[in-house]
Amino acid sequence: MASSDVDRLRAHAAEHGIDTDTLSLTVVDDRYRLVVDGTVYEDLTEGEVRDTLATHPAAVREWAFWHRRAPQADARWAFLRWIEDADAHSSPSDRRAALTEGEQQRWGQLLVRVRLNDAQRRAYELRHVDDADRSAEQLDAYDDPRTARALAKYDNDGRYRPLATAPTLQTGWVFAGLEADALVQAVDFFYPATIANWHRERTGTLDVTHWAETTERQTGIYAVTEELDGAAVDWVAEACCVDSQCLKRRQWDETADRTLDVARGDGTFPCREPCSLVIAAARKWALLEREDQQTYTVQLTPSEKEQLETMLDAVADGTTDEVREADVGNAANRYRARYLRAKRAGDELFESPEDDE
Ligand code: SF4
Repeated sequence: MASSDVDRLRAHAAEHGIDTDTLSLTVVDDRYRLVVDGTVYEDLTEGEVRDTLATHPAAVREWAFWHRRAPQADARWAFLRWIEDADAHSSPSDRRAALTEGEQQRWGQLLVRVRLNDAQRRAYELRHVDDADRSAEQLDAYDDPRTARALAKYDNDGRYRPLATAPTLQTGWVFAGLEADALVQAVDFFYPATIANWHRERTGTLDVTHWAETTERQTGIYAVTEELDGAAVDWVAEACCVDSQCLKRRQWDETADRTLDVARGDGTFPCREPCSLVIAAARKWALLEREDQQTYTVQLTPSEKEQLETMLDAVADGTTDEVREADVGNAANRYRARYLRAKRAGDELFESPEDDE
C-alpha cells in the first residue's frame, strides 16, 4: 500500500472528516477517532492513526480509489460501483478479494470487466459481449477512449450505424488496462448519455418526454410527425424501439395517460424520449399515411401469398442475408423472389380498382 494514501487520508480527515460506509476518521483537539473494519479506535495521536491505518490496507486502498481516483460525478461513481457490485460486499477486504478474481457486467453489447492488477489497482477492460471468450491477442487493442467513437460508427459489414444503441456494434476490439475515468469515457462514446439516464432512473429523476409532447414541438419538415397518433404510434415503437432494433428500454408512451401496447424492452438503460432517428422515420410514415386507402385484387397462388408474407418478414427482421442462395425451400430465397417477379412480368401483381372499370 502506498504510504501516501495513508497520509492523504489522514490529511483529508483533519480538514473535512471522513465518514464512509467502511471507514470513519474524525479529529478533535488533535486526537483522532477511527472506525475501520468494525473496530473503534479512540483518542489516537497522528502517529498512532498512521500506524493503525497501515494495519488495514484494504480499507485505505478502497477509500483512496472511491474518494480520490474514481470520477466523483454521481452517475459515473454509481456506474463504477454497479460494475463490481460493490455494495454486495460486506467489507473492503471482501470487495478486494472479489476484484482479485474479477467482476464483470453487461452494458448493451459491451462487456465491462474489472480486476486488480499487479499494483493492486483497478484495471478495467471493455470488449464486445460476443468476444467474451476470445483471447486479447485475437482482438485489436486500443487504449484511447476516443477510439470508441470511431468503432461505434460502423457495423461488422462496414455499414454506417445511425443509431448508437442499435444491436449492431462491431466486434473484434478490446480496451484493456483502462483507468476508471477512461472506462466511463469509452462507454459514453459507445452509448452516449446512457450512464447519466440510467442513474437518473435509479434516483427517480428521469424526465420522460412522451410522443405527443415531442412531436408537438417539431418544426419545419418534421412538424408533420404530429399527425401520427393512436395505433400509428404503437407501429412506430414496434418498428424501431423493440429489443431487436434498439438496446434502450423505452420509457416514453404516446402521452402519460396513453400507454403503448408494445413491449418496452429489457435494456439496462432507459430511453427518455423519441430519438432523432425515430422522428425522421415518423416523418416519412406521416406523409405516407396521408394517402387514401384503396382496395386491390391480388392474383396469387397460396404459396405465392405465403412467399410475399415471408419476404416481408425477412426484410423487416433484417434476415435476408441469412437465406442461402441454394435454399430454394425458403420462401425469402432470392431465386424464389426473382422467379415470382419473372412470372408476374407483364402482369400487374395488384389490380387497382380502376383496372376493373
Ligand atoms: S426512441 Fe426508440 S429507437 Fe430511439 S433510442 Fe429510444 S428506444 Fe431506441
